[in-house]
Amino acid sequence: MEKKELMYEGKAKKVYATDDPAYCIVSYKDDATAFNGEKKGTIVGKGVVNNRMSNFMFKLLEKNGVPTDFVEELNDRDTVLKKVEIVPLEVIIRNKAAGSFSKRFGVAEGTPLKQPTLEFCLKDDALGDPMINNSQIFGIGAATEEEIDTISKYAFKVNEVMIDFFKQCNVELIDFKIEFGRLPDGTIILADEISPDTCRFWDMDTHEKLDKDRFRRDMGGVEEAYAEMMKRIGLGE
Ligand code: UDP
Repeated sequence: MEKKELMYEGKAKKVYATDDPAYCIVSYKDDATAFNGEKKGTIVGKGVVNNRMSNFMFKLLEKNGVPTDFVEELNDRDTVLKKVEIVPLEVIIRNKAAGSFSKRFGVAEGTPLKQPTLEFCLKDDALGDPMINNSQIFGIGAATEEEIDTISKYAFKVNEVMIDFFKQCNVELIDFKIEFGRLPDGTIILADEISPDTCRFWDMDTHEKLDKDRFRRDMGGVEEAYAEMMKRIGLGE
């Protein structure tokens, strides 16, 4: 399959049409943003890491009963995906407190949560992706009750599969953000990406951060952390 016209350009990826309206091709860039686009930069090699890691995770999740939009990896940066209509929600699961959760609820970063938490944010950059609850989601029609049931069930499954997998890599999964899409027949499938941009990964022993927080917080060693995660999952040099 070949790239045709550019359909959409986001912060970290470009999406192209193909000959077949049921498929698109995503191309991952090295551009990085944080704090709703206020902070901008480049993480050399990030596009390759995110493309390859995300595809690897989506294949693992498919095997474990979570349907995804993954079709075929074309090269280091480009992947064929099923075309979906994105459900305009960021779906966040947390195992330990960090980031906005720590700030909002006054829980120290790294505090284990008594059970994994699920939260939704409305995907709207102009509004700063505000948190939204189920009844508000139904009220504005962002998703139906049945869709939220499916999304919640898949999100917790993704968490279980990822916790187990990353444990074998000596990495602790602190939290992550995923997105879902609707196929033309309305089926809900996992979409977007799973990468160090969208997850918090801590070394199990040292608690060293191996994710985008190194960029957000100007900690240095950003490229090294992304490369280390590739090694840990068995895709690195
Ligand atoms: N996250 C993301 N995109 C966003 C917001 C959050 O991928 O626009 C991820 C983030 O990397 C972390 C998790 O979702 O793994 C929870 O993020 P949090 O709500 O703590 O927000 P942040 O501190 O990243 O602003």
